[in-house]
Amino acid sequence: MDEFELIRRFFDRQQVSQDVLVGIGDDGAVLTPPTGSNIVSVVDTQVAGVHFPATLEASHIGFRAVAVNLSDIAAMGAEPRWMTLALTLPEADPDWLAALAAGMFEAADAFAVALVGGDTTRGSQLVISVQVIGTIAPGQTLTRSGAQAGDDIFVTGTPGDAAAGLRLLQFGAKGDAHSDELIERFCRPQARVELAQMLAGTASSIIDVSDGLFGDLQKLLLASGVAGTLEWSQLPLSVALESHFDRQQAIELALSGGDDYELCFTAPPDALSRIDAASRATGVQVSKLGKVSAGAGLTCTDNGRVVEYHHEGYRHFKENSGS
Ligand code: ADP
Ligand code: MG
Repeated sequence: MDEFELIRRFFDRQQVSQDVLVGIGDDGAVLTPPTGSNIVSVVDTQVAGVHFPATLEASHIGFRAVAVNLSDIAAMGAEPRWMTLALTLPEADPDWLAALAAGMFEAADAFAVALVGGDTTRGSQLVISVQVIGTIAPGQTLTRSGAQAGDDIFVTGTPGDAAAGLRLLQFGAKGDAHSDELIERFCRPQARVELAQMLAGTASSIIDVSDGLFGDLQKLLLASGVAGTLEWSQLPLSVALESHFDRQQAIELALSGGDDYELCFTAPPDALSRIDAASRATGVQVSKLGKVSAGAGLTCTDNGRVVEYHHEGYRHFKENSGS
């Protein structure tokens, strides 16, 4: 099977739609955004053994590769429409590729995102890079930089679950319902696309949580030029998480575990009823975590008492690490 046969068999669904004038099969894709809309473009590369265990089931690899991009699109308040796929493979195993494609299309179809092109190469390890292109009406864009002193800080879902699930995968889970739920949260992240779109005009700033809530909230506060506090007793720790880890471990996973693909956002206090309505309409849990203030830095409190907490978030290239 050469790469053209591979593309034809697994990735070219011959999709024709109003907003794809030219798709897979030519030198480039030609796309039609809604008149007057802006384009939002995101890309995310996943390397086997770095971003997921190399032994992870192919359908999960495919699903995650798309979902992590949908999460970035969500964090901008945009609507995902198209994607391209750059795939580097050590070998072309048909069963494995069919499962990868099924996972990818499952994540993409949930938001009617069409695969419109890509690139396929052979290499020594599996690398999957997905670009998602979305659109947004002018004035609807959400960014990291709008948080203001006095705003509340919120998070969606139950952070820490995905990181817990990854650990259970790696160290052998017991196979109970709670561990299955945590593993599912790592394998099948649910991008908060609809909720984010409903937060346009309500949220003052937003970031998606990929590297851990503490580090990503720090990035948001820095981009906004403000300080914040995060109250540990308000962290929405899931029953599944607390059934497998003690409170301190659960907090550590929620703050620094990574792979959540939840949203962390800020909004003024008078936005609470709109946030509640968006949460109810989408079925996505939203929890208030803390407060934005003037100054710089993120302070943690536990039942009101200041606690020392430092975490840098994951970095691929650390200074002086020699790599
Ligand atoms: P080119 O040589 O012009 O870059 P290719 O021969 O690499 O084009 O690819 C042929 C067509 O298949 C192009 O339209 C490209 O976008 C598409 N394509 C290549 N790899 C993939 C893939 N993994 N998924 C979807 N489309 C792909
Ligand atoms: Mg070409």
